[in-house]
Amino acid sequence: MDQVLDDFRTKILPGVTHWQSPSFFAYYPANSSVAGFLGEMLSVGLGIIGFSWITSPAATELEMIVLDWLAKLLNLPEQFLSKGNGGGVIQGSASESILVVLIAARNKVLRSVGQNALEKLVVYSSDQTHSALQKTCQIAGIYPANFRVLETDASTNYAMRPELLQEAVSQDLEAGLIPFFLCATVGTTSSTAVDPLAELGTIANKNGIWFHVDAAYAGSACICPEYRQYIDGVETTDSFNTSPHKWLLTNFECSLLWVKDQDSLTEALSTNPEYLKNKASQANLVIDYKDWQVPLGRSFRSLKLWMVLRLYGSEALKRYIRNHIKLARYFEQLVSQDPNFEIVTPRIFSLVCFRLVPKENDEKKCNNQNRKLLDAVNSSGKLFISHTVLSGKVVLRCAIGAPLTEEKHVTEAWKVIQDEASFLLHK
Ligand code: PLP
Repeated sequence: MDQVLDDFRTKILPGVTHWQSPSFFAYYPANSSVAGFLGEMLSVGLGIIGFSWITSPAATELEMIVLDWLAKLLNLPEQFLSKGNGGGVIQGSASESILVVLIAARNKVLRSVGQNALEKLVVYSSDQTHSALQKTCQIAGIYPANFRVLETDASTNYAMRPELLQEAVSQDLEAGLIPFFLCATVGTTSSTAVDPLAELGTIANKNGIWFHVDAAYAGSACICPEYRQYIDGVETTDSFNTSPHKWLLTNFECSLLWVKDQDSLTEALSTNPEYLKNKASQANLVIDYKDWQVPLGRSFRSLKLWMVLRLYGSEALKRYIRNHIKLARYFEQLVSQDPNFEIVTPRIFSLVCFRLVPKENDEKKCNNQNRKLLDAVNSSGKLFISHTVLSGKVVLRCAIGAPLTEEKHVTEAWKVIQDEASFLLHK
């Protein structure tokens, strides 16, 4: 054991990027916590594979209970609760959530218009939608020419524009195509843009389009009453996803998906081989989560979320979110006070998008400098940030949300960024 741990320390650890470091500000955070860890430990210790209710009844039932709790914390519509035909499920990732709901929507529409209409099915997204949707379309056999990517720009802070959706849907209908799936985002990956759910939902509902909302990162903030407004309009959706493994103290993997109509999922994904048959499933008395996801096997993931909710409670979780947003506001102020930098899009949650300002209007040079600054900052080994491109501008992203981050870490991070910038600018 000593030798193995020595090898871990000397050979493996040097190659690890410390996602749990308080100075990790890249991508979106990956949350971990004592409660999540304990829940995971119980899950691993029990080592159950809860694909059907019968394989471990508590695993299915706790998942239903905990997903209902979260739905209530987020004030999701009643139809997403397990008491009716809706319900929630824990997926491994937001990508899997998109995959299963798109497959469900595809199945539903093909059943009604005929199985050979695949080439007519159209998917709608924006140029800020996560690439998980594109991957899903590739897997699901959606024709690449029928994948609509609506343009966004700074005028709506990169949010999807309902009039563009309406226009695209009308054109597709005229061309004899079948609009069937819309993915909106609350908290886009590049810049936390929030798509206007209510307006988009009206268009989707009117045209029989499955409406999915990806709130992988920002959904967690919506447990706070003051941020709940960002999912207003969620009542118009067919499915909603948020990932506590990003920002709700629950370690990876834990991505929550709710649907209003569980039959649409099971009709698309269920199989019933002899070797899995049992009385409870045959009598349709229970949920078998194997029919809500891609793999068969599944671990007891709800234990870690249950532990987080039980040990911390909703008020502490709200304080946790608010503290990160407060730290992001602080970082935003630091950036705004430095004439060498600018804030690129208004901050909404705990991500700050900023960059070195262009000198003499030379955008190309400015982009190069921002890329150099990114490399220099990350090479320092003192913190880790990431980047994106918005309207052709290279933008630096500081995503605050690691559980251990405090004001002093934000102050130190800004000092490193400023020092590296001044070195670059005076070279
Ligand atoms: N959707 C959004 C908005 C994201 O920000 C991300 C990842 O950052 C994803 C989806 C993909 O998440 P996952 O790795 O859980 O599939």
